[in-house]
Amino acid sequence: MTVKKLYFMPAGRCILDQSSVNSTLTPGNLINLPVWCYLLETEEGPILVDTGMPEIAVNNENLFDGTAIEGQVYPKMTEEDRIVTILKRAGYNPEDLLYVISSHLHFDHAGGNGVFTNTPIIVQRAEYEAALHSEDYILPKNLNYKIIEGDYEVVPGVQLLHTPGHSPGHQSLFIETENSGPVLLTIDASYTKENFEDEVPFRVLDSELALSSIKRLKEVVSKKNPIVFFGHDIEQEKRCKIFPEYI
Ligand SMILES: [Zn+2]
Repeated sequence: MTVKKLYFMPAGRCILDQSSVNSTLTPGNLINLPVWCYLLETEEGPILVDTGMPEIAVNNENLFDGTAIEGQVYPKMTEEDRIVTILKRAGYNPEDLLYVISSHLHFDHAGGNGVFTNTPIIVQRAEYEAALHSEDYILPKNLNYKIIEGDYEVVPGVQLLHTPGHSPGHQSLFIETENSGPVLLTIDASYTKENFEDEVPFRVLDSELALSSIKRLKEVVSKKNPIVFFGHDIEQEKRCKIFPEYI
């Protein structure tokens, strides 16, 4: 069974120091990266991958002033980038979704989780537990988290690949699409093509683990030859088909 449509939904932007995308560069220059969520139309129902940034980031670039990451991260989010607004564009309300998949729980991927009060939110155990015990995360409580461990098939055609390193329980997606064949969403296992192909280091929690996850995804690429999309790649964004187009 394949996924009928895979939509790339822009969910605002995030300004980061260039050294977080390429650790070999000297800190001091800021770059403007896309933030994504992805909507999958499947036989079983619509599935959302990631929920963008939290509402508190709307028109609030200085959200992280006074925190440990002051000066390194500036969210660029408008009302249009709220997950509810993004879904509405596709004709859905939060309760219409079959699942939400959290690739990981960083603020630019799970910021909108709080609006999904009933929908099962699929997340790795290691990520969920890290978020409970760390102030680096904004984790809405009392949601319907569906905790998994390791690789997991969500529905036929949608496979989660556990790729820790960037964060404790990061997961990437391998999706079989009806129109474009296999697609690998690395999410933040690689921010950019350089991180993946040249193994250029970027901001991760555990660099050894992050590199072994990249090597693992490279094996998937060599075996299955998917189209590969990276988590925050400015060059790739320029050529990306975005909603209402799909792949
Ligand atoms: Zn991340």
